[in-house]
Amino acid sequence: MTRNPNHDILFEPLQIGPVKTKNRFYQVPHCTGMGWQRPRTLSEMRKVKAMGGWGVINTEYCSIHPASDDALHVSATLWDDSDISAHQIMTEGVHEYGALAGAELWFGGVRSANLSTRLTSMDVDSLPNGVGHPFQTRAMDKTDIRDLRRWHRKAALRARDANFDIVYVYATHGYLLANFLDPRTNTRGDEYGGSLENRTRLIRELIEETKEAVGDRCAVAVRFAADEYEDEDGKPVHGERRDMLAMLAEHPDLWDINIADYSLEMGVSRFTKEAALEPYMNFVKSVTTKPVVTVGRFTSPDTMASQIRRGVTDLIGAARPSIADPYLPNKIDEGRADDIRECIGCNICYSGDSLAVPIRCTQNPTMGEEWRQGWNPEIIPSKQSDATVLVVGAGPAGLEAARSLGNRGYSVMLAEATNTLGGRVTREANLPGMSEYIRVRDYREQQLLVMPNVEIFRESLLTAQDVYDVGADHVALATGASWRADRYDGETYSSIIEGGSDVAILTPDEIMDGKLPTGPTLVYDSDGYYMGGVIAEKLHLAGIEVTMAMPGDSVSPWTAMTSEQWRVRTHLMKMGITLVMSHNINHFDGAHATLVCVYTETPKVIPVQSVVMVSQRRTNNELYNALIAKAEGMPENLPFSLKRIGDCEAPAIIAAAVYAGHRYAREMDNPTDPDMPLQHEKVDVRLVQSAPLQKANQLQAAK
Ligand code: ADP
Ligand code: SF4
Repeated sequence: MTRNPNHDILFEPLQIGPVKTKNRFYQVPHCTGMGWQRPRTLSEMRKVKAMGGWGVINTEYCSIHPASDDALHVSATLWDDSDISAHQIMTEGVHEYGALAGAELWFGGVRSANLSTRLTSMDVDSLPNGVGHPFQTRAMDKTDIRDLRRWHRKAALRARDANFDIVYVYATHGYLLANFLDPRTNTRGDEYGGSLENRTRLIRELIEETKEAVGDRCAVAVRFAADEYEDEDGKPVHGERRDMLAMLAEHPDLWDINIADYSLEMGVSRFTKEAALEPYMNFVKSVTTKPVVTVGRFTSPDTMASQIRRGVTDLIGAARPSIADPYLPNKIDEGRADDIRECIGCNICYSGDSLAVPIRCTQNPTMGEEWRQGWNPEIIPSKQSDATVLVVGAGPAGLEAARSLGNRGYSVMLAEATNTLGGRVTREANLPGMSEYIRVRDYREQQLLVMPNVEIFRESLLTAQDVYDVGADHVALATGASWRADRYDGETYSSIIEGGSDVAILTPDEIMDGKLPTGPTLVYDSDGYYMGGVIAEKLHLAGIEVTMAMPGDSVSPWTAMTSEQWRVRTHLMKMGITLVMSHNINHFDGAHATLVCVYTETPKVIPVQSVVMVSQRRTNNELYNALIAKAEGMPENLPFSLKRIGDCEAPAIIAAAVYAGHRYAREMDNPTDPDMPLQHEKVDVRLVQSAPLQKANQLQAAK
């Protein structure tokens, strides 16, 4: 296929200072949960993006000095020369495929408590820690500023020596440099505070010093916010920002523009759609002649081309679209835009940083597995036998298993009980704000429909005998899970209604099936992720008075991992949903729900006519149990191999189901060693020598 001429503009090279990008696809810096701890895992992941056609690939935030330490979150580091080789394996991999590599030099200031390095954190003033640790910063004096400039310069030189092509001055996201710019945080009386010129001084110095250090070889980029503070979505408050940018306009080689409200910039699809930053960009290109990049969870090549054509931006910045589809540029180039695995805006990728584990992605099960399992999102080994495979259930797990087995060339039968594919994503995508989740199904369904070796059987609720009768060599059960109506009290599942009572408790499954409660309703959420809030919203939109109760101290606590908790809670409060924290549900009699405080055990009776339990799920194991029973409890007696994948093995997030399906397909005729199923990246202890320890030993010996 050939490229759509409308998209040619995306493949025009662009000069960025002394370097040139081959196209307009720019992977902006994004965290990975790998950083300095897992350099091989990280470099292979970035290299795969270069293979997929991205023109520029950046690191995550890369600390310039131990006084900027974000532990437990894992940043990259350029603290000393020993860091250089770790980055070199990334830049080599990226260069091999003709892409540029960028390093985002970072100093956290008020947002890094330095919990690991134990150095005093410092910022423009003595400020309380920005992420809630009981630490305050030291107000930087002139010596500190001199130190910072020296550290930044040294890190820039190391970045150059690691063969990076772009080096950042990072002045947004509430980190140190952003606080120097902001008149609310910067109340200094010296030449770094007060006037606009003074508040931009440090950034100007850093740009100049970075250019002087590496500017002959590397472009110098500045990350900068186009607006001053958070307000209504899509209504930027530019304030001084235009003047600031105009003052610095020609200093760097590239402007990487984002906004003050991270919850919008990094917004989940429930609240934020594609190209949400466009209104914020309305002045940027008019005040600088330098190239500009910005983000917007772009997955439509038409939108991307339009952004460039209309002068909103010069480069298409992407973190999440490059995670969901590392081959997005190549697909557009080859006229295969329909094959793009579009990001669904769930922010599971961000949870890797939140939880300090390697990044993962709902849409792309190979993300983070490039090095430790040798997985590539577009390349999968051909089949090793002529075996036939039956996949039962076409939810995320079954669809991904069938797609990947189909790609390998196996003969696959996919049986689905209902008329529609997609399982839980099809159902959940109908809930308020969740429509983009349907991309999990649509991408896979579209791929499957053109595979001659995959047959799809809808409205085929298989029994154990049916499975036998199919006669496949391998059977994967992807039959999913169903929401329970009882609650787990920490030890056991128990009902909240009296034995013999005919009071009905609703579950999310019933709500998704179209059943609505009557009268005021309590939504009890002990799941803690998005479902409780989304169900509460659906009922509210249906005109039902909703109270939402939960055992924890905060609303939808796991949504903090995906950086959406603030939006979720604000949204629920603005809708007028009553929120009751720190209470378990004990009992419902059809007219009253009894809650109990988790701390004092004080009961709280709420008059409601219905209760929806968003608690735990039960695996749909009937088919599995029937098959095992047929084999008299011995799976090895079955005439086929049998495996449960996804929610029917263990209920979890959608990303886990997709991953399970993918893994099943990869391991067909190619089993991993069950005793060590992946490559473990760890520090090579032979290389570690502690200079301070050696010195201490010498001093001790000399005594
Ligand atoms: P997962 O998230 O693990 O993929 P889902 O719950 O999303 O699981 O999907 C499970 C799918 O399996 C649903 O579409 C359901 O209709 C289907 N299913 C369940 N039992 C059977 C069965 N016995 N035969 C065929 N399809 C089934
Ligand atoms: Fe997009 Fe979700 Fe993948 Fe992140 S995890 S890239 S938000 S699909």
